[in-house]
Amino acid sequence: MKLRVLIAGVLLTMLVSCQTGENSRNINNKKVKNIILLIGDGMGVNQIYSAMSPFTDSLNIERVSHIGFSKTYASNKYVTDSGAGGTAIAIGKKTYNGAIGVDEDTISSMTIIEFAEKNGLSSGLVSTSGITHATPASFVAHQKSRNLYENIAVDFLNAELDVIIGGGRNHFNKRKDSVNLLLGFEKKGFKVLENISDIAVVDSGKLICLTHEEHPPSMLEGRGNMLVKATKTAINILDNNTKGFFLMVEGSQIDWEAHSNNTEGIVAEMIDFDIAIGLALDFAMADGNTLVIVTADHETGGMTLNGIDKTGKLMARYTTTGHTGVMVPVFAYGPGAEEFTGIYENTAIFYKMMKLYGFSIQ
Ligand code: MG
Ligand code: ZN
Repeated sequence: MKLRVLIAGVLLTMLVSCQTGENSRNINNKKVKNIILLIGDGMGVNQIYSAMSPFTDSLNIERVSHIGFSKTYASNKYVTDSGAGGTAIAIGKKTYNGAIGVDEDTISSMTIIEFAEKNGLSSGLVSTSGITHATPASFVAHQKSRNLYENIAVDFLNAELDVIIGGGRNHFNKRKDSVNLLLGFEKKGFKVLENISDIAVVDSGKLICLTHEEHPPSMLEGRGNMLVKATKTAINILDNNTKGFFLMVEGSQIDWEAHSNNTEGIVAEMIDFDIAIGLALDFAMADGNTLVIVTADHETGGMTLNGIDKTGKLMARYTTTGHTGVMVPVFAYGPGAEEFTGIYENTAIFYKMMKLYGFSIQ
């Protein structure tokens, strides 16, 4: 009996390894045409698990094939902020907290979006914070400080970028210098919108939709499915480019709810972000040439999950209202996903993307 189980086990193992071998060969043969990078700001493994039902496969993120870990520290601090964390992924260099698209000597360095555009690809940024906030800003702007929102908005106008969806409209059209940057976007051929429900019909050209004067509200405050609508439209538009695209989608407010140690808020933001992950995975599965990467810039709150109380409520505890220095997970699906297993610096994510696109650093 035992022997029979053993033989069955060996056969099953052979069968499984044959199949995975074949799958990864297929994946290796394919060039990466598109990358969708989804960043959950402040999203550690416990923020993710807080939104999972413990007894079922409940999140889209569980559909990924490869997992690794990234070390998030900044060049000058054990605990990073979103400026240094986003910039590390965007330019491949460790930098100081508060930096936007510049190295530790405040020197500008080309971002993955700038490389994508230089190579003829389309690009987009989607965020549930102001679009000039640190995470999305790191991918197109070059500023000494994340607080220079109006300068960052000018960098957005001067950048080559096809889709911009988020909040932060005031930094574009209610500025100290009274310049209305949105007119500049119109001149560059952008469709300029403010209402998220108007974007669904846009499926080509260039689009900037700034949905709120400042940050969009949280999920608990009624943001609705802005992120999902934005992600869908961004993919629709960017997919027109036969050379490919780069899209960064940020679930910004996981971080803010974690700063508030608000478990219910974290779960709501995680579920919203996960629906966007599901859209990206659906697109990648149908397309076959799209790599999906899901990661975080850092963990926030030092969140732990201590159990479920008698009423069925998740009992979470926190060690801080700030960020922590723990490693964050990196999930990947699609061609090149196997490159993302292991433990590496957050800056390695940039070089892995560059290699898979076939871009040269020069
Ligand atoms: Mg952010
Ligand atoms: Zn934060």
